[in-house]
Parts: sequence; C-alpha cells; structure tokens
Amino acid sequence: MDASIIDRSRGTLIGLAVGDALGAAVEFQAPGRFKPVTGYRGGGPHGLAAGEWTDDTSMTLALADSIAQVGWDLNDQLTRYVQWFRAGAYSVTGRCFDIGLTTRGALVHFSQNNNALTSGDTSERASGNGSIMRLAPVPIHFAGLYPHNIADLVQKAEESSLTTHASEQCRSACRYLALVLAALIQGEPRASVLSPTWAPLRKLRELKPLHPLIDAVAQGSFRDRQPPEIQGSGWVVKSLEAALWAFHSANTFEEAVLKAVNLGDDADTTGAVCGQLAGAHWGENEIPRALRTGLARMDMLDGALAGIIRG
Ligand code: MG
Ligand code: MG
Repeated sequence: MDASIIDRSRGTLIGLAVGDALGAAVEFQAPGRFKPVTGYRGGGPHGLAAGEWTDDTSMTLALADSIAQVGWDLNDQLTRYVQWFRAGAYSVTGRCFDIGLTTRGALVHFSQNNNALTSGDTSERASGNGSIMRLAPVPIHFAGLYPHNIADLVQKAEESSLTTHASEQCRSACRYLALVLAALIQGEPRASVLSPTWAPLRKLRELKPLHPLIDAVAQGSFRDRQPPEIQGSGWVVKSLEAALWAFHSANTFEEAVLKAVNLGDDADTTGAVCGQLAGAHWGENEIPRALRTGLARMDMLDGALAGIIRG
C-alpha cells in the first residue's frame, strides 16, 4: 500500500486519541473558564495523568479489535464494548471510568437481548456524539471502497452507529463523516472534500438523504459560524459542526485540535472527532512529536492499527 495512505490511516486513529487526551483535562468546563490547553495536562473529571485518553479511544480500540478479529459482526462489536464497560478491557487505566448514557443503555440492553440490531436507542433525543467519536476504524479499514463503492462504505459506517446510537441524526453523521475521512485518507484535497458541491456528497444523498440537521453541517454551516454559536457540545450535530469548524481553516494538525478542545464542554470528544479529520488530512508524521511521545499506551494504538490497515 502507498506509504502516504498508511501515514494518513495511522494519523486518523492516533489523531483521535491525541484529541481525546488533550481534551480530557478540560472536559465539562465552560469555554473561556479554563487556562487554554496547549499540550497534555493531568487532572480533569477523571483524574487522569497527562496523555491518558478516555472512552472515545477505548471504544475505538474495541471496534478496531472486532474488525481485526472477526471482520464485520455487530454483535461482536457490542460484545467488546461490554468487555470494556464491565471489565475495563481497552481502557488506559484497566477500568471503565466514563461512559455516555446512550452507550450505557445500549450495552445494558444488549446484555439482556443479545441483538445488536435492537440495542441502540432510535429516538432523536438520544442523538449524542458517541458513535462519531469512535468511527475511525471504519474509514481506515474500508478506505479502499472510496471512491468506487461509497454505498458499502457508508453502510458500514451507519451500522457501526446503530449498535449504540440508532437515531437518524447519529446514523447520518456517521455516513457523512466516514465518507469525508475515507476521501482524506485517499489523499483528496481538504477544500474539495468539504465543499458543498463535492460530487461524492451528492452521491451520498442520492443513496439516501442525510438528516436535515446533518445536511446543514455538510453544506458548510461550520464556515459561517463562530463561538458561542459553535459549541463543543455532546449533541452529535453541534459536535460534528465544531470539529469541522476547528479543522477546515487550520494550518496544522496541532492548531486544529487545540481549537477544538479549547471549546471546552465535551472537549475530549470534540478533540477526538477533529483529531480524526486532522489526522486523516495531515497524517501521522505531521502530528507534533511531543503529542505522539506523550500519548499513553501507544502500544495499544499500534496493535489496533496493525489489525485494521489493509496491507
Ligand atoms: Mg471521553
Ligand atoms: Mg466526551
């Protein structure tokens, strides 16, 4: 495989973890109420050490492991999320110290009925950012489906959301984000991928319309807005918009991810979503060395990447 595709594939997953770890220290803090993040720092609501990451990365590792071990099996994906939830597998500390409400509900439901197709909450109220935050393994593993088989690529992305976040907003967000990430991994220029007239976006809508709120983001809502309208919120629509806002005009990986986490609030997840975009665009080699060497348990990320990058 082309070395630059491998670099951007690795950047997508490592970027996710970097953004998660940078934001973890200021999660739940109101924007402007904390000393701006410029690098890893310890503390935050979970009392982590500098460079340690949270549920966003743990669920990503579980999804990657499932793909590597058994291919595509939604029940297996959920089984591995449950192993994280109940036993701390895939966690940086060996225990599950944070979990979103919608995710927890789905895992409890799945433990009872063992059916991935009915475990995720379908109501629009349950439209958190918990499935876009862990999406990376899908566009990384299936990047080769872009541009000729967009239908299968976005179907996988949608199914990966369904297990825990089955609302139309969450499913649409995963379809759109996976398409953008796969295109960036394949080396498409950022300006064309984020353009409202991008041909693959038109194709995506022809396959099935996006939820109108996600479509508005894809149309470029992130370009015309600034904080406080841009929010590092836990709602999938605002979270995706905020990540794209931080990414679309940044000059470097670091600038993008710091802009995202400094929105505060659900800072780790805005950072994780922006980190996927920035990592897919700039690649692992453009992630500053200090952010790579300071990241906890790089061996776990390397193991996951070895299992999902198609050689
Ligand atoms: Mg988190
Ligand atoms: Mg979060």
